[in-house]
Amino acid sequence: MLVESVKCCGCGACADICPVNAIEMKPNEDGFLEPVINGETCKHCGRCDKVCPVMNIDSLKTVDRNVNCYAGYITDEEKLKRSASGGAATAFYESVLARGGCICGVIYNRDFTRARFVCTDDPRYIKGFRSSKYIQAEKALIYSDVKEKLDEGREVLFIGLPCEVAAMKAFLGKDYDNLTLVDLICYGPTSPLVAKMYLRRLKSENGHEIVDFNVRHKRNGAWQPSYLRAKFESGEVYVNEFFNTDYGFAFDMLARDCCYKCSFKGDNKCSDITIGDFWEADKNAEYYNKGGTSAVMVHTHKGARFLAECGENMLLKRAEYDDILRGNPMLTECREKKPGRDNFAVLMKRQGLRAVVDAYRPIAAGEKNLLKRIVKKLLILAGLRREE
Ligand SMILES: Cc1cc2nc3c(=O)[nH]c(=O)nc-3n(C[C@H](O)[C@H](O)[C@H](O)COP(=O)(O)OP(=O)(O)OC[C@H]3O[C@@H](n4cnc5c(N)ncnc54)[C@H](O)[C@@H]3O)c2cc1C
Repeated sequence: MLVESVKCCGCGACADICPVNAIEMKPNEDGFLEPVINGETCKHCGRCDKVCPVMNIDSLKTVDRNVNCYAGYITDEEKLKRSASGGAATAFYESVLARGGCICGVIYNRDFTRARFVCTDDPRYIKGFRSSKYIQAEKALIYSDVKEKLDEGREVLFIGLPCEVAAMKAFLGKDYDNLTLVDLICYGPTSPLVAKMYLRRLKSENGHEIVDFNVRHKRNGAWQPSYLRAKFESGEVYVNEFFNTDYGFAFDMLARDCCYKCSFKGDNKCSDITIGDFWEADKNAEYYNKGGTSAVMVHTHKGARFLAECGENMLLKRAEYDDILRGNPMLTECREKKPGRDNFAVLMKRQGLRAVVDAYRPIAAGEKNLLKRIVKKLLILAGLRREE
């Protein structure tokens, strides 16, 4: 038996653990991978239930929670520029590789329409891991791969979304001293179907293959706002503010069902360390860099030890949890389900991404204008603004 479809986070730990390969990860109607059991092969051993992070969250939460918060950035400018935020992930990866360990992260496939986890000790992968991919990554056999390396005594650093970290913990079934789990503050990824439709169109409009793609491009090295950047084989480059693109609109509109009721927020975190964007960082603080500032929250003693060993490739200073939370409600809250989300998914498949975004944008803009009108009215009533 598996968790019901609307609660499933698509971690695939069940498929990885199944001793008779009776579970296959297949795209659901929104394009997110979901486990499907082959009833004829299944031996009803129940191992799939035991590794489900959603069903077992109570036993997975990080116990020695003592949140110490930091903020900062990687000191190498080029690495900072290619990272989504302040480059904490790269700094962590480098320190583990320097000790002979293995690192896990997410890379794109060749045409950027899919993303997948890799566990490696090859430093060349760090470049591919860098920056956020806003589609849900495929896990395949990442859990058993990590287990094998841990059992060999190798140090492993796993960085992933909170549900993926919880799934890793559930799959392993015990604590490993040589494993550090880092999760990202998470808004919830969108469907790989969005990437497929968007990139197919971009490529056909330009007429050339896409050779580089980033949804967290830092235009002129600046971290905010985020740009989508695609570089074509011809050398041409397309750059647009991320949320002005169809991809950005769909990212905001179409998350997995479970992300609207995420089981891994706030006190349900399962990681040693959480990292994210420090959106509300004090611009005068020593830890601030306009090229990207990471928020780093340490939950466990193991996480504190790991951070202490991270060396000098990152400038890190103490920060306040409440300051991080202010700009990052996703630390404790789930993303809100936008009106029309379910129809958006259906129409996108029927009419294509461009058509559905064209239809939805005015509605979303209308909502914004309505909100503006309400705020204006309230300001007038409060005597803070004059009637025009
Ligand atoms: C879907 C998604 C939603 C996010 N939402 C928020 C948010 O609301 N607020 C916030 O502060 N931060 C959010 N983040 C995290 C933020 O975008 C940065 O990834 C984080 O701050 C790390 O940046 P960095 O500069 O340290 O590392 P980078 O060098 O940018 O490294 C990125 C790290 O993220 C991993 N990664 C990239 N894509 C994925 C993916 N699809 N699934 C799992 N792991 C991935 C890489 O393997 C690498 O470890 C989100 C990230 C993702 C992938």
